[in-house]
Amino acid sequence: MGWCIIATWKFSLAGITAAAKLVGEGGSSLDAVEMVARYVEDDPSVESVGYGAIPNVDGEIELDAAIMEGDTLSIGAVMCVKGYRNPVSIARRVLEDTPHNILVGRGAEDFAARKGFEKTMLLNCQSIEKWLEKKAEAGERLKKGLDYKVPMGHDTVGIVSLDTLGKMASATSTSGTGMKLGGRVGDSPLVGSGFYVDSYVGGAAATGVGEDIMRCCTCFYAVELMREGYSPGEAAELAVKKTHKRLLEKRGRVGNIAIVCADNKGNFGGACNHQGFEYAAASHNCPPRVYMVTPIDG
Ligand code: ASP
Repeated sequence: MGWCIIATWKFSLAGITAAAKLVGEGGSSLDAVEMVARYVEDDPSVESVGYGAIPNVDGEIELDAAIMEGDTLSIGAVMCVKGYRNPVSIARRVLEDTPHNILVGRGAEDFAARKGFEKTMLLNCQSIEKWLEKKAEAGERLKKGLDYKVPMGHDTVGIVSLDTLGKMASATSTSGTGMKLGGRVGDSPLVGSGFYVDSYVGGAAATGVGEDIMRCCTCFYAVELMREGYSPGEAAELAVKKTHKRLLEKRGRVGNIAIVCADNKGNFGGACNHQGFEYAAASHNCPPRVYMVTPIDG
């Protein structure tokens, strides 16, 4: 039986390489997507996920993460979590150990403590420096009479996996947009917007301006396109095109949007509406590597 694993951005490559070994040797998709997210969460060089991320406007790192299992459509998500390095693993505990789908803020942190997760400092020198830099940049923009609605640094690790038993899973993890307001939640932990997976069909995960992605439930739409028979690459492209076009029509502007998709046969693909998007992937017939994506014609 074929298998595959795909994740947003080049920073996922180390996690994808480790998780490809896991699924290639018969491991589960749920373990694989969690593994990739944890690799990125633990990497201090990634400024927008987990430890060492860009703080919110108050200088605090607030994390969002989710995980979904494609056989049963079970979901676990946490939002606005402070002081825990691996929110994806807390989300997994929500999925497996509670009757709920989502825990936020204090509730999610209390739950993590009860489950034995260790509280840690997420800020490091680099994220404090970034925060000071962004604060100065925001001040400059405001002085010039420009608002600063453009997000100041963002990117999410979004993963989809198919294992050798045909089970699929998806996960996301992010600190959201740099200098966000405290309590802000983007698309990443929202089912259908930042991620979706159904083992009968395939899965999708997104990265980009969450406020825009959630307006069109882009990942749910991409999975439904695969259900209609589109390949993962085609579904990703059509979903990004539709989101891009609809937002331009209705709002006159659209932020960066990118998604990755995989189907239940081990095919995968990605699409974006901006330059510079890359994803990492591996499958039964492709060794782990990074793919550069050509943006859709706007
Ligand atoms: N989608 C994330 C958010 O809006 C950020 C990103 O992926 O770039 O929180």
